[in-house]
Formats: sequence, structure tokens, C-alpha cells
Amino acid sequence: MAAVPVLDEKRFAYLKPSDFTRLADAYRFSEAAHAGQKRQSGEPYVSHPLAVAEILAGWRLDGQTLMAAFLHDVMEDASVTKTEISDTFGRPVAELVDGVSKLDKIEFQSAEDAQAGNFRKMLLAMARDVRVILIKLADRLHNMRTLGAVPPAKRRRIARETMEIYAPIANRLGLNALYHELEELAFSHLHPLRYSVLAKATKAARGNRREVISKTEVAMRSKLVDSGIGAAVTGREKHLYSTYKKMVEKQLSFSEVHDIYGFRVVVNTVPDCYLALGALHALYKPIPGKFKDYIAIPKANGYQSLHTALIDPYGLPVEVQIRTEHMHHVAESGVASHWMYKDEEESLSDLQKQAHLWLQSLLEIQNQSGDSAEFLEHVKVDLFPDEVYVFTPKGRIMSLPRGATAVDFAYAVHTDIGNRCVAAKVNGELVPLRGELRNGDRVEIITASHAKPNPAWLQYVRTGKARANIRHFLKTMQYEESASLGERLLEQALKALGTGLAGIDDASWERVVRDSVSRSRQEMLADIGLGKQLPAVIARRLLRHADSARDEAKATGSVTIRGTEGMAVQLASCCRPIPGDQIVGSIKKGQGLVVHATDCAQIERSRRIEPEQWIDVEWDPGTTRLFLAAIKVTVANQRGVLAKVASEIADAGANIDSISMDDDRSLYTTMAFVLEVANRRHLARVMRSLRRLPDVKKIARVRE
Ligand code: MN
Repeated sequence: MAAVPVLDEKRFAYLKPSDFTRLADAYRFSEAAHAGQKRQSGEPYVSHPLAVAEILAGWRLDGQTLMAAFLHDVMEDASVTKTEISDTFGRPVAELVDGVSKLDKIEFQSAEDAQAGNFRKMLLAMARDVRVILIKLADRLHNMRTLGAVPPAKRRRIARETMEIYAPIANRLGLNALYHELEELAFSHLHPLRYSVLAKATKAARGNRREVISKTEVAMRSKLVDSGIGAAVTGREKHLYSTYKKMVEKQLSFSEVHDIYGFRVVVNTVPDCYLALGALHALYKPIPGKFKDYIAIPKANGYQSLHTALIDPYGLPVEVQIRTEHMHHVAESGVASHWMYKDEEESLSDLQKQAHLWLQSLLEIQNQSGDSAEFLEHVKVDLFPDEVYVFTPKGRIMSLPRGATAVDFAYAVHTDIGNRCVAAKVNGELVPLRGELRNGDRVEIITASHAKPNPAWLQYVRTGKARANIRHFLKTMQYEESASLGERLLEQALKALGTGLAGIDDASWERVVRDSVSRSRQEMLADIGLGKQLPAVIARRLLRHADSARDEAKATGSVTIRGTEGMAVQLASCCRPIPGDQIVGSIKKGQGLVVHATDCAQIERSRRIEPEQWIDVEWDPGTTRLFLAAIKVTVANQRGVLAKVASEIADAGANIDSISMDDDRSLYTTMAFVLEVANRRHLARVMRSLRRLPDVKKIARVRE
């Protein structure tokens, strides 16, 4: 068995001694937590977190990040809790470890390009702290470096994920060296044969041209020295994957691509960059159209350099990058350069601020250089998240605005799903529809064919699509219900005049509609249903009667209601009529038909002085819905009495809609229930069985 590796103090020499001590504690903790676990290569598991921490130390990151690197797998693989980490190493370290563990839990499934983009955004949005991403990237880098030990199928999956997700993120964050290493490693595992052929060919080509290249390098160096510019000139390795990409994209042969070789010139100051450019253009002819000034206009990820291409004395193109030391550093380590460990006490919130400022400045630069919409959207969404990314049951990723609910998700999937949704499952558990979705949630919508949008949804949906669809549905529904009620009201009014709707011809309809504010027959019926038009008046117009409509109030016959008409028919909340009660209806502007109990005290006056507003209505004997009725129960104030009453109600087949109790601590207490019952007989049965309870002293239906 391989020995457990030791912590190499030299690699962490830039840390303060006190930070190093805490780091050593974290290492021991990790070692103990992973004791006995092995990597696929057979090494002790702790060699992995150690390597990850060393990569991060290479980027000179702060102590918290390094501690979190040691601990990054203990939650997943050794079931250590977040609280335990927080108690031992502090909350910030625990948050970092938790952040990395959350990222580990979500798996990229779809091969579509657009999905890869969304997945990257989701990862970045989930990592509130940029350091979580840096740890995750270091973790991935070490896993890629040791991928050879992993079984082939898993190897390919991880390599593909690296190519599509993690390498682009490294690029986005300006971590250039990491970006290229991830790409090269992923390429070598995805296409091992192509990789080795290209590697051999590149090596051979380099050998053939070695003499030419070194002559050019010497000539460039002495030209820069002669011009008085202090500069380091290095030959630049072409990345195999970028060569491969160029061959595929531009359909070129290897020799066509590899005729180009490159140098990097690193100087001290920005003016020196331009001086060096001038000197090299004087040495060899530049290729027109190849010069790019990324100093004046940096790339999206903050990269700065001058790029040019020259023709050497042998007629071969030479690519040159010119940059300062600082630009070189940013090019290599991007956003990580802002987390670099500094000796002086600099609080982490300052560092965070700096990193954000850097990103902000990237935004501004992009604003000026046009071509920014895409980048702007990314950085804004990624690192200042105002969107959430969630999975459908099939693994598709949907992007929604922050605060979006399951209802928004349902409408985003499909309007029909939204209109018929009744419940939602998030990560396998039932949740209320109003619950806020979080990044990485897997959301499943449960629909029912009879379900309809609920007006209450409008209070919490966030997307315009959901809002517009709910409004549209409610409006249409209301309109249809109103029209159907209007038709029944009109039929009744016509019957009172000795005819019916069937007896009205189209010409009469057209004439009446034309002379009214309604735009169509259907709209006129809806207006009647909504109480904007009186049915008796319209009936008379249809029959060309000119008499006052008032007489119609005396008409016999009545309208039948089922109580399922929706918004067009309302049951008055003052008297809460239920089937079996004598009822009467009032038509008010914009309210539709409001149904009261005949003996309701609230309506007495109105029925006397505005009789034309009132019409006879009766219950449809076939109605099956449940109706709300209020009762008051006075009981002996004893333990458990509420439970007894409630279970008696349930046993009688009624639902409890709401309960309220007075706070009375005396001998008796009064409970007010709103129940759902089928009709008057059902309510009577419920009340009878309650009365049988010894604790119940008084019981009455409430109608006021
Ligand atoms: Mn790991």
C-alpha cells in the first residue's frame, strides 16, 4: 500500500505561519476522514485533495480556499457535516466546501450546445463565491491529469464534460493556462488516436524547422536589444487541440496549419509593447490584416496583448504576441489573480470587491467595443446571478428569472401544462406551487385534465409568459361563463313574454346588437350575464316591444343555477346559501349574478326599493359541488374537545374550510366553523350528529 503523502511546506511558503498551521490541521482532518479510502489508481484518497490544494497554491490563493480544497470531498465521500466543518474551521470554509459539494451533485446530461451553455451558467450561478468555482476547476484539473486510471466509459464522459463545460468556464474567467491544459487533456481522452498522431507530427515538424526557428528568435532578440527595449522572447508551443480545431473547421491539412509558429515577447511597460511592435515590423514585413490591438480593446475575459504576424526570411509566417508582465499574469490566471494571497491584512470582502470590480471593468470595456451583448449577458448572469437554472424531469435545463415558482416553470414548459397544473415535485418531493425554485432543482409538474388556472397565482408568478397566460385564461373563462349565464337569463325573460330564444331571428339580433354598445351577439349575452344589460330590456327590444322593462320583474319562471358557473355567479358571503335554501338573485353592473338566501337580512331593503334588480333563481337539482356553510358550536371548555368536534364533522362527510375560536377561558367556549357541505339536508345531518356529543351545549347555523 502506498504511503500517505505528507504536506510539502515549501509549496505553501507564501502563507503566514499561523495560516499554515490551520492548513496543516485541515490536512490532518481530511486524512482522518478519508482514512482507508483509495483512488482508482490505488493511491490513498487524501493524495487527491492534497494535489487540488497544491494547484490552488500555485495560483497563490488564500488560506480559506486551500483549507476548503483539503476538505472538498469530505461531505460527499466521508459524510462529514457542514456544521462539523463550520465548528472546526469556521463558517467561510464550510460555505466553500458546501458550495463545491453542491456542484458535484449535479450532472451534465444533454449533448446539445445550448444546454451546455445553460449548464455552465447554472454552475456559475450556483457558486455564489468565485472561489468555489476555482476549487472545482482545480479539482477537475487533477481528476483530468489522473484520468488514465478510470474505466473507459466514465473517462469519456468526464472528458466530454470537461471539454464542454469546465474548459469554457476557465476561458471565461481568464484562466488561460488552465483552459488550455483542460482542453488538451480532454482532447487526448476523447480522441486518443488523433491526439497521438498530431503529437508525433508536431514533434517532427518542430525538429525539421528547429534551425530556422532559432535563427528567427536570435534575430528578434538582437533587434529588441538594439532598440533599447528590455524584453524576454520565448518560443510558443502550439496547443494540439487548437491545431486540430483549425484543421477541422477550415478543412486544412496538418502542414497547412503548422506552417505557422509563434513567439511571445514580454516587456516592462505598455509603451514598450508598441515600441517592440515597431521594432519587429522593421525587422520583418508584417502580414497585412493580422495586427490586433488587444491592449486598447481587451478580449471579453480581460486578456490584453498585441498580436501580429510577420514573414520571416524563409517566407514562413511567424505569429508574435507582445505583452507586459502584468498582462501575462492576467492572461495566465485571470480571475484567480484577484484572490492572490497578500501578506498585509486584507479582508476577504475587499478581495471579493476587487474581483467584482474586475468583472465590472470587463463589462465596461465590452460595452465600448460593441460585440458585447453575448458576453454582457454571461457575466451578468453568471456572477451576479439574477436567474435560476432548473432541470426538467428529462434533464433539460430551463432558465427562469430569480424568484420564479413552479407555476412559472409549468408555463415555460408549455402553456397547457401551466393551465392544467395542480401540484409540483421538486427533487422528488411535493412542494407548494408558490415555492421559489433554486438553482439545480429538478422540477416535475403534476397536471389534471379538469384543472384551471387559479387567480391567486397572479400574486406570485414572476414570468411575463405565466402572467399573460393566466390573465388570458381567466378572461376567456369569465367571458364564456358570463355569456352562458346571459343566455339563460335572456331565455327566461323571453319566456315571460311568451316566446324563447328559438323564436328570435337573426335580423332581430343584428338590429338589437347594432343599436347597443355590444359588438356581437356573444358579447351582448356576456354583458347580460355580467349585469351590464338587463335581460328583460333586451328581450323586449328583440321582440320590438317598447314598454318599460320594469314590468318584467314581475315575470314568472326562474333561472336555474348549479353553483359551478364560476365567476359569473357568486354566492353571497353574507348568508352563504346552499342547495335547499330558498334563493333570489340580484344583477349588478360588473358583478354578474349574486345569489342570496331569500331571508337574508342584507337584501331586505334593496328588494323593496329596487325590485327590477331582482330575479327568481332556483337550484339545479343535479348539482354535485360542495358549498360553504357557517355554523357556531358552543362547547364545554375541555381538553380535546376541538378534536372530538372536528372528527365528528369529518365522520358526517363534511370538510372543514376554516375554524376560529374565541379565547374565552370560562366554562364554555364558542367555535365558529365554515364547512363544505352538499346541501341543506347534509348540513342538518352534520348538526344533528354534533348535537349528540355530550360536550356540545348549543349549535346553530350562522347567516348574517
Ligand atoms: Mn474531488
